Amino acid sequence: MAKFLLVENDPLVIRIIRHLFNPEGVDTLTVVNSREQLKSELQQDEPVAAALADIHLPDALNGEATKDLLTAGIATVILTGSEDTSARDQWLREGAVDYINKEGRYWYPYATRLLKQLQLNQKRKILIVEDSLVEMESMAAVLELNRYSVIKAESSEQALDILQRDPDIRLMTVDHQLPGMNGLELIQTIRYKFPDRPMSIIGVSAVPRSSAQLSMDFIRSGADDFLHKPFNLQEFIYRINNNAQMIDAYVQLKNQAEQDFLTGLYNRRYFMHQAEELINKTRSQMRKTMVSMDIDHFKKVNDHFGHHAGDLVLQAVARTMHEELAPLLLARTGGEEFSVLIPAHSAAEVQALMENLRQRIAALKIDVEDGDILSVTISIGACTSMDQDLNTLWNTADEALYSAKLNGRNQVVSLSA
Ligand code: GH3
Ligand code: MG
Ligand code: MG
Ligand code: MG
Repeated sequence: MAKFLLVENDPLVIRIIRHLFNPEGVDTLTVVNSREQLKSELQQDEPVAAALADIHLPDALNGEATKDLLTAGIATVILTGSEDTSARDQWLREGAVDYINKEGRYWYPYATRLLKQLQLNQKRKILIVEDSLVEMESMAAVLELNRYSVIKAESSEQALDILQRDPDIRLMTVDHQLPGMNGLELIQTIRYKFPDRPMSIIGVSAVPRSSAQLSMDFIRSGADDFLHKPFNLQEFIYRINNNAQMIDAYVQLKNQAEQDFLTGLYNRRYFMHQAEELINKTRSQMRKTMVSMDIDHFKKVNDHFGHHAGDLVLQAVARTMHEELAPLLLARTGGEEFSVLIPAHSAAEVQALMENLRQRIAALKIDVEDGDILSVTISIGACTSMDQDLNTLWNTADEALYSAKLNGRNQVVSLSA
């Protein structure tokens, strides 16, 4: 939940922004009509994520309220009727995030989008790879103004080290001329070393504009965007914002493609892909166990209590599995079937781990929201092997599961292959 401020006295503008902001019940947009009101609003304890402010208010004709916001350290976007370019530059210099002319109604959606981005930026890390301290500082300043968490590297080697240690970085800018490995080589190395990592890279370089070759080489090396130095810092931040939105949308889609919607566990496709990789990589070198788990008589839950109750049972079982088995590779591989791949454990250790899970699930009291409290059991089949392939491990675990079902369910059966 975040709080946003709209400092504005024009009822029409307030109505439009309120409508576009559409808080979805999570965020709040507090409207303030005067400098006086803003003063009391700034006394409140609740932090303000960002503000959209008119420079002219009846009791503050010359931007005094906007200055109050900037002094209070609030990320402030100016929405104004004046198109004065020198005023625009002046306000940006004073620390406003952007200066938007409200005469054009198409700017309103941009303004509200920017407000929300400013809140999202608080969770976004950006790595700047730049050996010129002056340029580093000017980029860092505008990024921090836009609420990004800036991480700095003065060489490619340092950048690689930071990326290795911090998997949350999804945005970076890369200068070309650097001591040691240059920018192009750095980007190529990143794309090679972290092929699956979602990462938006913006190349920046002072090589003359007439040389188009470098910008092409940057893109070919894996950069998503390129800017010639010296660049306008406002254009720089627009491009960063666009890349940040794009990479976040990509991560969201990727997660959706890898996850099961009902339980939030990985799906079958992801599981198979990852399992295959791990099994092939460690073949003949490391023991691993494929485990198949299946809820007993689950059809009866649906038949007696309805599909919604069935869904709640699946969620409760999945949650318990996640609690017991994370960070192992765990997935919902079928309707009421789950799989886990356990590396580097003996068959006896796996047996004990799964026995513990079986008991925890059998002990669950699942509230299915219509007055019924349900309990379910699971049957588990495991196959441990050093050098079998995915197929054999998978099929043998399934055979073990089948035996567990035949033997009376609610038990663990282990086979080796
Ligand atoms: P067994 O002990 O032999 O495994 O019996 P079972 O009833 O669990 O097995 P069966 O394969 O006959 O039935 C599985 C049921 O799981 C049938 C299907 O409708 C139900 N199911 C699969 N996916 C979902 C789901 O997403 N939600 C709900 N509510 N039910 C599901
Ligand atoms: Mg340089
Ligand atoms: Mg089944
Ligand atoms: Mg079943």
